[in-house]
Amino acid sequence: MCSIGGPANLTIDELTWYKYRCTKCGHVYKSTGKKSVCPRCRSEDIEKV
Ligand SMILES: [Zn+2]
Repeated sequence: MCSIGGPANLTIDELTWYKYRCTKCGHVYKSTGKKSVCPRCRSEDIEKV
């Protein structure tokens, strides 16, 4: 594994972050995924904000 010297390191900024709000417990969090579950109550009842 000798990959030093390549193009500039990709950072996490390359990803698009979305903000979601759980409609069940009101928890707001960020995720890079499309659809995810609330990290607090694991509900799939979330909406993009
Ligand atoms: Zn929740």
